Amino acid sequence: MQFIEALKLRNKLFFLFILITMGLISVGIIGSMHLNSMKKNIDKLYFGSLVPVTELNEIIQIYHNGLASSVYKASRLEISPSQSSFEIQYSIKEIRKKWKAYESHFKRDDELDYLGYVALEIKHANEYFLKIYKVAKEGKDLTRINLSLLEKKVSYIHNIIQKLIKYEVDVAHYERRKFIVSYETTKKQLGTVLFFITMAISLISMYVFKSIQNDHTKLELTTKKLKIVNKKLENVSYTDSLTSLHNRRYFNLVYEREIKRAKRKNNYITFMMLDVDFFKQYNDTYGHIEGDYALQTVSKVLKDTLQRPSDYVFRLGGEEFGVVLTDTDESNSAKLARDICDAVRDKKLLHANSSVNEFVTISIGVVCCIADDALDEDVLISRADEMLYEAKETGRDRYIITSNVSTAKVKTA
Ligand code: GH3
Ligand code: MG
Ligand code: MG
Repeated sequence: MQFIEALKLRNKLFFLFILITMGLISVGIIGSMHLNSMKKNIDKLYFGSLVPVTELNEIIQIYHNGLASSVYKASRLEISPSQSSFEIQYSIKEIRKKWKAYESHFKRDDELDYLGYVALEIKHANEYFLKIYKVAKEGKDLTRINLSLLEKKVSYIHNIIQKLIKYEVDVAHYERRKFIVSYETTKKQLGTVLFFITMAISLISMYVFKSIQNDHTKLELTTKKLKIVNKKLENVSYTDSLTSLHNRRYFNLVYEREIKRAKRKNNYITFMMLDVDFFKQYNDTYGHIEGDYALQTVSKVLKDTLQRPSDYVFRLGGEEFGVVLTDTDESNSAKLARDICDAVRDKKLLHANSSVNEFVTISIGVVCCIADDALDEDVLISRADEMLYEAKETGRDRYIITSNVSTAKVKTA
């Protein structure tokens, strides 16, 4: 039964449908087999009616061969009177026995009347022969016996029994015809009933099958929608609402993943830490809303400058940003950092209280190295942080890059 459990709901239902259909077909086969055996029974019944016919025929034979023939032979002195008496006695006993056996078969009331009449005629015929028997037993010869009377008696009883035989055969034919008609009717009725049941069950099964299939399709659609909604939710949870950049949560994922990938391939990995210069003063001077706008402007610069699919930009918090570049060597990383600084400055967001420039500027700490197994991802961040600090200390609006993750090799823009 395990294989049924393993089936999908649709297949299970299809299996059920086949099962019901097969079941009905089996019922049909069984039903027709039953009817066939019924037909065989009818035939047996028909041939069974031969038994009483045989018994009656034997009785006729005994009247002819056992009784009439014996009396006739005795009248011509072909056999002795004692032999004749013995044969008469024996034949009458046989006739009684056979008639009793014939009477034991089932008979209807109206048939019993006719049977009574035949029994009476047999009794009379037997009495006639018993009279001859008595004469023969006394040893008297039977030469003077009236042979034409004998013939009349035998032919009379012969005709009566023959009529009974004909009746038996007719009844058997009639019964058989009746059975065959009822057999055909039953067969047709069974066929019709089975056909309608099969149709009804098939239609119901098809309906259930279709309805489940619809539910299944709906479920699949809902699941698809749910997946999309989940994806959106996931995106929302990884996105910073102010700048639409990826947030720190997403940074944690990507940073770890990209470092591992770079380690596997021994590729360049670059991490930049960016911070807006004198941003506190900017907020204080122009207000928080203008400050937000400045952060959005910086974000746009980052997005516009870093457009490769393997470039990742994050807002790590406040006015701090992070950049992860893969497959970018030191000189290209340095060029990109410089471009970012220049592009932010070129946005010409007035910053009257900055001691570095009349416009908003940023400082960047950059670490670029070839990743190997020994590379510690925390060190990469702390080195970038150190470089950012250096950039701030040495005048801001600049980047400082290092490729050495253990000893700082400082290079200023
Ligand atoms: P430094 O050049 O040394 O980086 O000086 P700074 O003033 O930029 O440094 P500091 O860390 O003192 O100030 C950061 C300021 O950034 C403080 C906070 O008001 C501001 N800030 C942080 N998040 C947001 C934000 O979402 N919107 C705005 N408008 N300001 C923010
Ligand atoms: Mg800061
Ligand atoms: Mg700052």
